[in-house]
Amino acid sequence: MSPVAFLDLGALHRELREEMHAALERALESGRVIGGEEVEAFEREWAEYCEARFCIGVSNGTDAIEVGLRAAGIGPGDEVIIPALTFVATAEAVIAAGATPVLADVDPRTALMDPQAAAAAITPRTAAILPVHLWGQPADLDALGALAAKRGLLLAEDAAQAHGARWQGRRIGGQSAFAAFSMYPGKNLGALGDAGALTTNDEQLASAARTLIDHGRVSKQEHGMVGMNGRLDALQAAFLRIKLRRLDEWNERRRAHADAYRAAFSGSDVEMFAVAEQAEHVYHHFVIRLGDQRERDALGAHLDQRGIGWGIHYARAIHQNPAFADLERPGALPIAEALPGQILSLPVGPTMSPVERECVIEAVLDFHA
Ligand SMILES: *Cc1c(COP(=O)(O)O)cnc(C)c1O
Repeated sequence: MSPVAFLDLGALHRELREEMHAALERALESGRVIGGEEVEAFEREWAEYCEARFCIGVSNGTDAIEVGLRAAGIGPGDEVIIPALTFVATAEAVIAAGATPVLADVDPRTALMDPQAAAAAITPRTAAILPVHLWGQPADLDALGALAAKRGLLLAEDAAQAHGARWQGRRIGGQSAFAAFSMYPGKNLGALGDAGALTTNDEQLASAARTLIDHGRVSKQEHGMVGMNGRLDALQAAFLRIKLRRLDEWNERRRAHADAYRAAFSGSDVEMFAVAEQAEHVYHHFVIRLGDQRERDALGAHLDQRGIGWGIHYARAIHQNPAFADLERPGALPIAEALPGQILSLPVGPTMSPVERECVIEAVLDFHA
């Protein structure tokens, strides 16, 4: 049996080779490699795609979260509630902004931030709620938005895994104070290196973010605040513009894989996560849940034997990493602590063929038989 890659970026780029070469040629000719037309065009196109008023290209997704928080005035003394099951960058960015991450548990049905757990984590120091649209499914923006409004908190989104996802029919990107995207190569929309973006409808926040990412520059020779180097490269913007034209098609292919998995596994012992009625999932990952860690690891070994790529997103809750062992966690986090030992991500990349997908399905069903 031929191997199935977890994600084949080479195959993805093969479809775009000529256009990417042309973009590189244009960059070589123009000499404008930071900022400039390509970045501005990408920012316009990404804002429009996300149904948001403003987009600021940023160096990467982690910086985009930090910049968004700082631009919103969140910093030292403030607490930001994040889900306990996410990539560590969510917590890192809050700390980089000078604020304190506070962990809330996730809903066992979706693995997304549980609005009740978020409500229970609120203290007088809470300034913001920062849900993560983990694996490509939007968190419950209705419940979290209502909670934030009721308690006078900022709602913002870590949308690093949710390019093109929708909540209540509207794209992720314009439904909270800001949404932060990562365009790391493996994301649904990825550059050929590190890149990111922040979208917002708030003109003041957009303007502050723009200043922050350019060393706090307010005019050519004047720096009005302590900023950072958080700019997006022109070449990455050019590559992103080319790939953006294919994003919907790639997300469709991911959804087709996910639908096929769901159809094949329904009625079997394979446990899957629910999709909320209001959500349009873009399947950055397709994740199944096993009974325990021994069973999960055995399935991993079984897939290895058949040459099928797989992953774990993530193998530890945030606070189970030594670097974050001391983080605030007002309530118990039983779900976020249990899931890392039980979850396994199957290949769902846009270049996987239906034949390859059948190999994955057969391997998973054989394991459970
Ligand atoms: C990828 C990712 C980030 C960080 O993005 P980078 O571009 O790698 O800095 C943040 N949060 C989540 C949930 C991610 O998946």
